[in-house]
Amino acid sequence: TPPELLRNFCIIAHIDHGKSTLADRMLQLTGVVEARAMREQYLDRMDIERERGITIKSQAVRMPWALADESGAPQPYALNMIDTPGHVDFTYEVSRSLAACEGAVLLVDAAQGIEAQTLANLYLAMENDLAIIPVLNKIDLPAAQPERYAEEIAGLVGGDPADVLKVSGKTGEGVPALLDRIVRDVPAPTGEADAPARAMIFDSVYDTYRGVVTYVRVVDGNLSPRERIVMMSTRATHELLEIGVIAPEATPTKGLGVGEVGYLITGVKDVRQSKVGDTVTNANKPAAESLGGYHEPKPMVFSGLYPIDGSDYPVLRDALDKLKLNDAALVYEPETSVALGFGFRVGFLGLLHLEIVRERLEREFDLALISTAPNVVYEVTMEDGAVLTVTNPSEFPGGKIREVREPVVKATILAPSDYIGAVMELCQTRRGELLGMDYLSPERVEMRYTLPLAEIVFDFFDQLKSKTKGYASLDYEPAGEQASALVKVDILLQGEQVDAFSAIVHKDKAYAYGVMMAGKLRELIPRQQFEVPIQAAVGSRVIARETIRAIRKDVLAKCYGGDISRKRKLLEKQKEGKKRMKTIGRVDVPQEAFIAALSSE
Ligand code: GDP
Ligand code: MG
Repeated sequence: TPPELLRNFCIIAHIDHGKSTLADRMLQLTGVVEARAMREQYLDRMDIERERGITIKSQAVRMPWALADESGAPQPYALNMIDTPGHVDFTYEVSRSLAACEGAVLLVDAAQGIEAQTLANLYLAMENDLAIIPVLNKIDLPAAQPERYAEEIAGLVGGDPADVLKVSGKTGEGVPALLDRIVRDVPAPTGEADAPARAMIFDSVYDTYRGVVTYVRVVDGNLSPRERIVMMSTRATHELLEIGVIAPEATPTKGLGVGEVGYLITGVKDVRQSKVGDTVTNANKPAAESLGGYHEPKPMVFSGLYPIDGSDYPVLRDALDKLKLNDAALVYEPETSVALGFGFRVGFLGLLHLEIVRERLEREFDLALISTAPNVVYEVTMEDGAVLTVTNPSEFPGGKIREVREPVVKATILAPSDYIGAVMELCQTRRGELLGMDYLSPERVEMRYTLPLAEIVFDFFDQLKSKTKGYASLDYEPAGEQASALVKVDILLQGEQVDAFSAIVHKDKAYAYGVMMAGKLRELIPRQQFEVPIQAAVGSRVIARETIRAIRKDVLAKCYGGDISRKRKLLEKQKEGKKRMKTIGRVDVPQEAFIAALSSE
């Protein structure tokens, strides 16, 4: 297809504002998917995505759409819809998807208005000079307030509120008009057809049968089947075994030219060989310069993952090796814990990424896992000038420290103006610094903060939601590091350090953490034949103390003689629990106690 007839666009929307439903409707209206083959959320292919209703991996689909030109003759356009992931952890992937488009549909729920996530992605799209088509969705809902929100959106993107399209992804109302608008408002791609090929990778997905399927947007030149290609970040060359478009299944073509969007297959087995953001070029006629904007994925949050049953360790290792094929951002290395046994320290892009990986491990590999409280990466400079990178709090160095640096983020919070005070108070307790504040309308305000990432990974979002009755939304992006007064708090059981509970916290919060953790363990650890002190300490200084009194708990005493089978069950349970006892010093601790202490807030 010549570039004049191509339109590449994405849909920017907050989770639940109806992106998948609208995409489904477009596929149906353009005839790409027949109504009877339509299953809900056609594009959300991964099971977890479907169940949670979120989009994790972007996909691209090509749709035909005819629109009359000035003379009235219908022109056969091809629209490439690039589905962007919708969560803060995947900002980099979003930015690459946006870079593959000339236009963006800004989709806003007409009953909710715009949210922080949408706003952040909208700014990203504007920075990339994309044409923005503002659209209010779900106008079929009785609670929809299209007039009110049209004004808000027009205020943000410029233009007349009357030009904001109103659609229903559910009923299909307004969707053909939206497709027409995409053809009219989104610029056709431009590029140099005769130049060496430059195609940007905006997604790569591991497929069991085909190996890695790489999604690309061609900027210049042409890629053809069977030729050799080069990945410009690594200079690795591969044979192009297959190239084509998704419509909506993979359909091989004779190549992809300027402005086209599609997939390619080289037979590599690991997404790390086909990196998002990288530039693909021809091996026999390589481009001099790559397209720019490429980053290595950088894990921001770390957590220890341990199998509850120690004999599952090899299964966990194999499972991580498999997941890694499909997830370039996943990093891990073996680690051992006195409390939890053999496991891995795993790095993630953020909390959702952590949750997704954990859930996939449990679901697809049938593993029962325990994970330690997530922590960020610290950079510690010692008095003698040595610099250490700490990804596990229990490895935080003792001795003379000159400076500790922690990652910070730039956060955007959108909230009704009634909650400004509540939001400010929360951000204050989380060591936030207000950068600025803007009213989107008299009722809604956008607040921008710098916050330590560590304060966000610890239940910030839940707190924000509860303090604003669910009305606030949050988005954040990495914003470098800052020096902070951080200390390590250790938890000691009878004088022995319990490694899984060490935490790095701001010095003003050390006491609260120590009291909370010691209290929790006192509740959870059964009494022993001797008294067991639980201490929280910063270095050699004890900051909190609890004691487990010495009484042996008689399990059978509870049964009052009566029911024999119940007694037997209890004994068996106790035996099983014993098997999974961990010994810290002289203290026997059932693993359940650790799990419980780590899992609740
Ligand atoms: P996504 O998270 O942005 O992909 O949103 P979905 O497409 O999964 O939609 C979220 C919820 O909104 C689902 O329950 C949809 O059925 C519902 N929904 C989506 N579009 C419409 C619409 O136009 N009208 C109504 N009434 N509901 C919609
Ligand atoms: Mg979706």
